[in-house]
Amino acid sequence: MRIAINGTGIAGPTLAYWLRRFGHKPVLFERAPALRAGGYVIDFWGLGYEIADRMGILPALMERGYLMQRLRMVDADGREVAGMDVAPLREQVHGRFISVARADLAAALFHACDGIPVHFGLSIVDVRQETRGVVVTLSDGRMERFDLVIGADGLHSRVRELVFGPDDRFERALGCHVAAFRLTDYPHRDELVYVSHTVPKRQVARVALRNRETLILLICRSELIEGFPPRELQKAALRQVFGQMRWEVPDILARLEAVDDLYFDRISQIHLNRWTLDRVALLGDAAACASLLAGEGTGLAMIEAYVLAGELSRSGDDVAKGFRAYEARLRSFVSDKQKAALWLRGFFAPQTAMALKLRNFAVNLMSVPLVGKRLVSRSLSDRLELPDYEMTVRPGCQASR
Ligand SMILES: Cc1cc2nc3c(=O)[nH]c(=O)nc-3n(C[C@H](O)[C@H](O)[C@H](O)COP(=O)(O)OP(=O)(O)OC[C@H]3O[C@@H](n4cnc5c(N)ncnc54)[C@H](O)[C@@H]3O)c2cc1C
Repeated sequence: MRIAINGTGIAGPTLAYWLRRFGHKPVLFERAPALRAGGYVIDFWGLGYEIADRMGILPALMERGYLMQRLRMVDADGREVAGMDVAPLREQVHGRFISVARADLAAALFHACDGIPVHFGLSIVDVRQETRGVVVTLSDGRMERFDLVIGADGLHSRVRELVFGPDDRFERALGCHVAAFRLTDYPHRDELVYVSHTVPKRQVARVALRNRETLILLICRSELIEGFPPRELQKAALRQVFGQMRWEVPDILARLEAVDDLYFDRISQIHLNRWTLDRVALLGDAAACASLLAGEGTGLAMIEAYVLAGELSRSGDDVAKGFRAYEARLRSFVSDKQKAALWLRGFFAPQTAMALKLRNFAVNLMSVPLVGKRLVSRSLSDRLELPDYEMTVRPGCQASR
């Protein structure tokens, strides 16, 4: 089948890779003019990691990634008030846990798609479903026909809007906002340590990266921000919300002024009753964003892509059957991940001073060997059997790598 994929982030290239491997002809579209560099850093483990391994991209991730050593929560004077080592956590998943820039993961996935047509600066702006195919209109005005269209275009998916309805029907705001940006030559560095300072309703964190860069994350409760500020007012909104904090925050806010790549958004989840409609399917954040609180969005996006490609290939020409199997296999798994993410709001932005104390107590508890092991293994485990589609796709469907 010839399959249009809107979005070349994490889910899009993973899907394209597996579709080609199972004998289909994917075509990728990406609104941005090129792959983006920089951006935030993600933690990556579980079944997503397993799929990355099957795609042969682990060496690239190892080369670019970070094996974080510690979480350190500090007070206004920079003294550690809570902390935990990451090593036991990594041991729990047999070393298969890495932190990597989202852009580096996206680039590794993209390179695995070498030879698959990719159109940057071009996206799907209209979708018309017909009995045996879909006619899409592209942003340059051209129309093209495909057998299927996949929306892998993230939290604010255009394909979802075109086919399923407007964002506000599916987006559930979780009551927090996030901003992320990078600073060059920021003077405070603790290599391989996530250092954060939290006061009620606000957290500021930093992670030292290669090439003299530092990732800064600002998270706050949404009631502190009025409405959704337009791009030109976002820095002012952040200054207002975080301006009273001590520690390194005044310095960070001063440096924010010169930043030109600021990520700023509400923290939201996406909930739809179904991820497929006739010949269109959604995956990744477009289908079921669990939010950054889950810390697993990339892994989920890759799992969904792998399963969608596998189930479509298993079901041959019966697209409806493939789509049903995709949803049946994943819906409750993904929904559990979305529920689990809600608990983590209190970790990033506890509401009160008492909640903050409890959070610090809980983090310190994680360092108590048996307790920590039990809590960690529960939150890191994926209760899903990943099918080996390469063994089971119908004969003749499998293509060479
Ligand atoms: C601050 C932050 C921290 C996070 N931390 C973690 C973490 O630790 N671990 C983790 O696993 N996940 C984390 N996540 C979540 C993770 O980044 C996402 O869940 C994941 O990237 C989803 O992949 P995706 O391919 O569905 O969407 P995206 O990665 O958002 O990719 C969507 C792509 O579609 C493109 N696009 C958008 N609109 C259009 C359009 N109209 N036409 C064509 N293309 C379009 C975009 O440019 C982009 O390339 C974090 C997210 C944030 C914001």
